[in-house]
Order: sequence, then structure tokens, then C-alpha cells
Amino acid sequence: MSHSGSCLCGAVTYTIKSTVTQTRACHCGMCRKWCGGVYLGVEVAPDQMEIKGTENMTVFASSPWAERAFCTTCGSNIYSGITMSGPHFGTRYVSLGGLDDTRGIELVGEIYIDKKPDGYSFANDTDKMTEAEIMAIYAPTAPV
Ligand SMILES: [Zn+2]
Ligand SMILES: [Zn+2]
Repeated sequence: MSHSGSCLCGAVTYTIKSTVTQTRACHCGMCRKWCGGVYLGVEVAPDQMEIKGTENMTVFASSPWAERAFCTTCGSNIYSGITMSGPHFGTRYVSLGGLDDTRGIELVGEIYIDKKPDGYSFANDTDKMTEAEIMAIYAPTAPV
């Protein structure tokens, strides 16, 4: 099963060629500034996303190990992707909010849980990881 998605204005559209059943929330300060709050991302393997309208998309190197893509016109988040070489290179975390149909996609995890603002929490029973645990997986050699 594939999933279609787009930015708010429709200048960037995409298809995820694999079945998406899970999403994870990121509470880090960068996501908070990027999208106004919690970022809900769905993991997509490097060759599983086809994007149309990439000329309307800006890809911003947000850290030494990740990039963030957004629509240049409307500002919608498209994805956050891993750019550091290694086993996760090219993996993207596509914005759940951009998918046309989010039915059946369950919130299963929360990362950077130690950075979550203290004024809210999700009720779901999720797997939670701290910043240190995430850095050890994705960017063991990156400066923190
Ligand atoms: Zn747009
Ligand atoms: Zn984040």
C-alpha cells in the first residue's frame, strides 16, 4: 500500500511507496521551532519516496547530520532526513501531517522526551528515548 501527501499549497506532492503504520513524535527544540510544536514523523527508507515539485522545495541543512525539506511557497514541512553517512543515511521522517490519509497510523514512540515542554504530554503508551539515546544511534560522532 502506498501513501500520497503534499504541502499545504500543493506545489510539492509525493508518494510513499511502502506501507506506513507507525509515527513517532520528536520533542526536540529544533522541531519545535521548525513546525511550531511536536513533530510527528513517519519513517521512510531512502528509495521509498517519490517527490514531484522538488523545484518548489527548499532543503535546509539543520545540523551536521540532518536536513529538513519544506515548501518554499507555503512553508509546510515535508521531511527531516539523515545526511550523515552510516546505516541511517537517506532515511527520511516524513511529516505525518502532510499525508492525505492518516487513518490507522499509530503513535508508538517519542524521542527527545527529555526536551519535551512540561505543559503537555501524550496519553499514548509510547516507547520513549532521550536526546543522548538518539545521538548514540544517529550521530555517534557528531558534536552535541
Ligand atoms: Zn506548498
Ligand atoms: Zn526533533
